[in-house]
Amino acid sequence: MKLLNGKEVKEKVLADLKEKLGKINRQLGLVVIQIGDDAASSVYVKQKQKMAMELGYNFQHLKFDSNISQADLLNEISKLNNDDLVDGILIQMPIPKHLDSKIVQNAICYYKDVDGLTDINIGRLVHNVDSLVPCTPKGIMRMLEYYNIDVVGKHVVIVGRSDLVGKPLANLMINKNATVTLCHSMTKDLNKITKKADILVIAIGKEKFIGRDFVKKGAVVIDVGINRKADGSLCGDVDFDDVKDIVSYITPVPCGVGPMTVALLGENTYKAYRLRCDDKNL
Ligand code: NAP
Repeated sequence: MKLLNGKEVKEKVLADLKEKLGKINRQLGLVVIQIGDDAASSVYVKQKQKMAMELGYNFQHLKFDSNISQADLLNEISKLNNDDLVDGILIQMPIPKHLDSKIVQNAICYYKDVDGLTDINIGRLVHNVDSLVPCTPKGIMRMLEYYNIDVVGKHVVIVGRSDLVGKPLANLMINKNATVTLCHSMTKDLNKITKKADILVIAIGKEKFIGRDFVKKGAVVIDVGINRKADGSLCGDVDFDDVKDIVSYITPVPCGVGPMTVALLGENTYKAYRLRCDDKNL
C-alpha cells in the first residue's frame, strides 16, 4: 500500500503557481464570503487565508450576519463582480436556509467563480470546455496525475453525488475516458458496485463507512470525507486500518484530499485572473 500524500502534491502545485505569479505585476485578489458563524466554515476559511497569504494574494474575508437578506447579499456580490482588483469570489457553504444557494452562486460572474459552481461553469465542464472546475474534484485528478495513476478505461466508482464533489468529479473522469459509476444514498447493493472499482472515491460524510467489504484488492481509494470525532480529531469515510492491507494506494485523512482542495483554490484564482486577461471582452 502506498499513501497518496496531499501535502506533498499541494507543495508542488503551490511551487508551480508561485513561478507563474512571479511574472505578474499586480497582487491577485481573492474574496471569501462567509455568512453566519458556522465553526467548521471558519476553520476552512482560515486554511484558505493561509494559502492566499503564502501566494501573496490580497485576501478578503467578508463576513455577514446570518440574517442578511438575499437582496443585500446579491448587491455585495455585484460590487465584487465589478471590482477590477477582485479575481476570485467564493461563498463558503453552507449558507443559511433563507438564502437560495443556486441564485446566490449564480450571481457570481462565471469568470470569477473560483468554486466552479455557476451554471455556466458546470455546463462547460459537462461539455468538456475549459472552465473553472470545483477545487476538490480538480485536486483529486491532479493527485492521480502526480502519482501516475492513469484513469483511461478504468472503472471509477464515486459514492456521493454532491454538486461540489461527486458530480463534477464524474464529469472530469468521463472527460478523461474513465468508465464511471456514480452512487448515492438510494443505490442498491452498494458494496457489490464498489467492489468492482479500480478507483474508488468516497464523499458521503459518514465516519469509517467503507471497510474491506466494499473494496476490491489492489484498488486505489480516495477518501474525501472529513468527519470530526468526539475527541476533536478528524477521520474519513473510509476505515483506513481495515482496508490498508488490500488497497494499492489510499489517501489519508487528514493530509489527503483536503490540502489539494486548498491548493487548487490558489490555482483557480490564477486561472480566473488569466481568463480576464486573455478575453478582453469579459
Ligand atoms: P453532501 O452534499 O452532504 O453529499 C453527500 C452525498 O453522499 C449525497 O450524494 C448522498 O446521497 C451520499 N450519501 C449519504 N449517505 C450515503 C450512504 N449511506 N450510501 C451512499 N451514499 C450516501 O456532501 P459533500 O459536500 O459532497 O461532502 C461529503 C464529505 O466530503 C463530507 O464529509 C465533507 O466534509 C467532505 N468534503 C471534503 C472536502 C475536502 O477537501 N477533503 C471537500 C468537500 C467535502 P443522496 O444524494 O442520495 O442524498
